[in-house]
Order: sequence, then structure tokens, then C-alpha cells
Amino acid sequence: MHLSYRARLILYNFILFAFSFLLIFFCVFQGTSYYYINQTKNLLMEISRDSSLYISQELKTINDDSTLENRFISNSLYLSHSISATESTRTLLYDVNGILIADSSTLTTSASLDTEVNLSRSQNAPVFTLKQINNTTYAYFTAPITVDETLIGYLGFVYSLREMDVFLSHVAFFMWLSGSLALFLIVMLSFRFASNFIRPIKDLTKISEEINEGNYNLAIYYKHQDEIGELTKAFNVMITNNNNMIIQLDSERKRLAGVLASLDDGLLALDQNGNIITSNRYIKTYFNVTSPKSIYDFQYQSFLRDIFDRLKNGKDHIQEEIDCNDRNLLLIGSPIREKGFEENYMIIIRNMTAAKHIQDEQRKFISSVSHELRTPLTTIIGYTDMLTRRQVVDPEILNRSLNTINREGHRLLRLVDTLLNVNKFDKAEFDFKKTNLNIVILLSEVVEQMQIKASQSEVEINYRSEDLPEVLGDYDRLQQVFINIIHNAIKYSNPGDIIDVVSTLEDRHIIVSIRDYGPGISDIEQNRIFNAFYRVEEDRSRAPGEGGSGLGLYIVKQIVEKHDGQIQIESQVGEGTNIIVTLPILEELIYGGDKDETL
Ligand code: ATP
Ligand code: MG
Repeated sequence: MHLSYRARLILYNFILFAFSFLLIFFCVFQGTSYYYINQTKNLLMEISRDSSLYISQELKTINDDSTLENRFISNSLYLSHSISATESTRTLLYDVNGILIADSSTLTTSASLDTEVNLSRSQNAPVFTLKQINNTTYAYFTAPITVDETLIGYLGFVYSLREMDVFLSHVAFFMWLSGSLALFLIVMLSFRFASNFIRPIKDLTKISEEINEGNYNLAIYYKHQDEIGELTKAFNVMITNNNNMIIQLDSERKRLAGVLASLDDGLLALDQNGNIITSNRYIKTYFNVTSPKSIYDFQYQSFLRDIFDRLKNGKDHIQEEIDCNDRNLLLIGSPIREKGFEENYMIIIRNMTAAKHIQDEQRKFISSVSHELRTPLTTIIGYTDMLTRRQVVDPEILNRSLNTINREGHRLLRLVDTLLNVNKFDKAEFDFKKTNLNIVILLSEVVEQMQIKASQSEVEINYRSEDLPEVLGDYDRLQQVFINIIHNAIKYSNPGDIIDVVSTLEDRHIIVSIRDYGPGISDIEQNRIFNAFYRVEEDRSRAPGEGGSGLGLYIVKQIVEKHDGQIQIESQVGEGTNIIVTLPILEELIYGGDKDETL
């Protein structure tokens, strides 16, 4: 049978009470009976002594010749009545043979004293017994009667202990009554105490359940400093410690999640069964799978399952490149082995698209540079070979040859300069010597310088400008910016075209626009032409001596940005290109946004 703790507590109390009650009841009852009976015994002994004395005196006063025994027999009825009258007890007299000779009462229950008389006869001593007749206790007492040391018969008393019975029944009644009351009280109090005792245990259970449901911010309130108080205190400390530990673990988890999220690679950690232990956002970006639970959720990425299977089969390091959703991805798989833990696996997914693109660009650049270096070198070597072998003396041929060697030498120098510049930009050690400069003068000089090249290509450059405030900049570098842009414009213009160079002031910024009417640049290409080594089409401008490295606009952008400026492009294929350079004027740089506030 299953009993609740409370029921058991009440039952224990009940049993304890019942046991104590019965013990007390037994002691009181037995003690009282014993007291009464002892009293009665002593009383009857006394009566028997008095009666023996009385009989002896009475018999001595009777003067006849018969023996004491005969005198006793003949006067027995008288004697029994007088003793009974004095002592208020039924008195029976027996002869020496134990035969009843007188009974002070007319009741017929006398025969029941025969056993006691016979006992007294055999032991020659008083005998005291108790008998229960009709729900009343009777004390039966017999004793030998001796006169002058001669046994003359036996004396018997039947003494009612009704008084004791009544007293004991009253005692029993009151004890049962008080016992029942006490039992009722005990049960009630037990209920109450049990509830009190059990409340903290119930609280503990409730709080444990809440903790199971993930609510850790709890405590039990118990005011007493007893054992339960100790338990609740220990429990509260445990909850606090657990809570702190959970907060710590949570923050560790968040930090780890932050680290994983900020990783630039996709990450997939898997257990032995292919369940995902952790992953980061790139998994969705790369494979378009939201919240995957297992490696088998990657239905269309069999390469991931393949890596997982190989790792599981004991391969230590896997590295392979795949193309997926227009991306070039490098997959690196390795096992995670930690002492005491089962082996897990990690797959890192690195997006190599940009790197690959740069690699491609660099490859193109190297082949382009090699080509560019080779062309002038071949020409130079060709001419010098010819001059040394043939020993040319014709001044015209000699002159033309030396001119070509010189031009190609300059072309080589230009290329090497550009490469050195790019290298410096990449190392961020490019040295700017900024001064206050007039952009109109700077542009006029550049345009004039470029006119020669323009006229060679049968292109006309028009420069217009209003009066402009000064800018703070590196004169040579800014010249390089506009030379590069105008050079491009000339390169991509058709003979007879015009190039418009216009500089204006707009919103405290100098805007320089270089507009040509060449082939234009598509929207997609517009985003790329400022990248290093990027060229739209390898051969588009390969007019003799006009090859490019794809570095011109990259350098332009670097210089403009280092002057806090911007470069934009407006172009449509077939309609020409407009490159717009924006530079802050000197005051803008000095006062910045403050000027607005003072206005
Ligand atoms: P470099 O300037 O290093 O000698 P490049 O002129 O080829 O070589 P960039 O100046 O960086 O390199 O230009 C990048 C690409 O942008 C060019 O290859 C060209 O295809 C395109 N481009 C630049 N300017 C124009 C323009 N005005 N019209 C059409 N295409 C242009
Ligand atoms: Mg260029």
C-alpha cells in the first residue's frame, strides 16, 4: 500500500499515542486493582485475626465440658452471625475437616469456598483468592482458627470488591473518554504539524520542477534554523550556484556563438551520427539550408556527406575545392578529438571566390605585365641586335632606331614606376606632400601636357572652369589622377572625338568631370574597373604603345580617397564615359561641418 509522507507521519503519531495510552491505561488499571486487592487482603487478614480472637474469647466464656472444637461447632451459627454483623462481611465457619458448619448468609454460593478451605487445611495458612461472579469481583479468604494453639476449624469470608469494580469502570470510562479526545487532538495536530513539516518539502519539489522547466531564478523561504532550514539553505545555495554556472555557461555559449558568427568561414561541427553540434550563418548563405539538424538535411550538397563519411572512416584531413551556387568553396574536414569525449568532426567552408578572382586577376596581370615588358624589350633587343650586327651608318635609320629604343625604354620605365606605386599603396607607406593648390592651374597643366597625346590620337580636349577655391593636396599625385583619367579617355576615344574636362564648385566641393564619347563601360564593369589589375577587355585599346596594366584607375581611386575625395563613374555602352572626381575645398577641410552651424 502506498502511503503519502503526511499519512505516514499521522499514522506514526497515532500508533505512538495508542501505544502510550494503552500502557498508561494498563498501569493505572493494574495499579489501582493491585492497590485495592492488597488493601482488601490486609483487611481480611485483620478481620480474621480479630475474629479468631473473638471466637476464642467467646468459646472460653461458654462453660460446659465439651471440647473447644465441639463448643465451636455448636456455637458456629451464632459466631458467624455476630462476626458478620461486626465486620459487615459474609462469614462462613468450617470444622477441622473443612466441612461447612455455619454461614452468616442464606445465599447458596458458600460451596465455592471449599477449594480455599482445603488449601488452608493443607497449608495450615490463610488463603486469599479472587473470583468473578455476575460481573462482580469477590475476595475469598479462608484461615485456620486456633485457640490455645489447637486448631478448632476454619474461618471463611466472602468479601465483595464491587466498590473497586465501580471505581475501575469509572476510571476506564474517563480514560477512554480522555483518550478519544486526546486521539482526536493528536490527529488534528498531526495534520497541522504534518502540513507544516511537509510545506518546505513541497516547496522543494515545486522549485525542483520549475528548475526542470528552465526557471533558475528561484529561492525557498523558510524562517526556522532547524534541519529543514539547513536543507533549504543548502538547496538555495545550490540553485544560486547552478544559476551562476548556467549564466556563465550561457555567456560562454554566447561568446562562442559570437566567435563562430564572426568567423569569416562557414563552420559545421558534427557528432558521430552526423547530427549538427554547431554551425554558423554562412551555412545558410552558402548552401541555402535553414537550421539544419543533421548532415542529411543537406540534400543537394552530397559533397558534405561525402566528407563526413570519409572522416568517419578514419581520414584525418580532407581538403577539396568545389563550385557551388556561383561560389568557389574550399572545404576542409578534420576530426575533433578530445580526451574523454567521443570523436566529432568539423568541416570548414571557406569562400575562395574573391581570392580566386584576385588570383585570376593577378595571373592575368602577370601575363599582361610580362607581355608589356616583353614587347618593349623585344623591340629594344631587336634594334640593338640589328645595330650591332649590321653596323648601320645611315643616320636616318640610326636616328629612328635610337628613337624607338628610347620610346620603348620610357614605356618600360613607366610600367615599372606604376608597379612600384601600386606596391607602395599596398604597403600603406605612400608619402603625400600636401600643399594648398589651385586645381584650375593643375588641370590646365595636365590638359596641356595631354594635348600632344590627344592630337596624336586625333582627339581634342576642351577644358572649362570657373574660379575655384584652393584645395589641400599633393600636386604631383593629383596630376597623376587626372593624367590617368584623361589618358584613358584618349585611349578609348575614336579619332575626331572631343573630350570635355569641366571643373566646378558645388556644395564646398570641387567637382572635376572628364567626359569622353568612346565605347562606354557596362554597369557590371563599372563596379570592377577600380579594382587593381582589372581591365575590361584585354585588347580593346591595344593601340601600339597603349597597353595597360589595369592599375591606372586603382591608383586614381587610392589617391582621391587619400584626399578625402570620391570618384564616380557615369557611363553607358556606346555613349561614352564620364568620370567625376569630387575633392573637398580647403575651408571644408579646416572648418568641416562647423561652417553650417555658424550660418
Ligand atoms: P593602365 O592605366 O594601368 O595603363 P588601363 O588603362 O587598362 O591600364 P585602368 O586605367 O585602370 O587600366 O582602366 C581599367 C579599365 O577600365 C580599362 O582597361 C578599360 O577597359 C576601362 N576604362 C577606363 N577608362 C575608360 C574609358 N574612358 N572608356 C572606356 N573604358 C575605360
Ligand atoms: Mg588607364
